[in-house]
Amino acid sequence: MDDPLFAAGLVVLLGGMSSFLAGAFGPIIVGAAAMVVAVLEQRAEDDATESDPTDKTSCPNCGARNESERETCYYCDASL
Ligand SMILES: [Zn+2]
Repeated sequence: MDDPLFAAGLVVLLGGMSSFLAGAFGPIIVGAAAMVVAVLEQRAEDDATESDPTDKTSCPNCGARNESERETCYYCDASL
């Protein structure tokens, strides 16, 4: 599902099928298909950002994940 053409084709295919089969409910199914594609794209973006862990810092006291710009832990207030 990494090919955007495949995803677009899938949406058109599902939209056409749903319009043919479900009449007035077609747009609802098209919307659902678009949401599925959006979720898949979101996952792809998450995978891309996982390779950059520098925006979070683990608290040395409790291990909570803090934004890197914080000077104290949001959870236990320990100095980071
Ligand atoms: Zn902490």
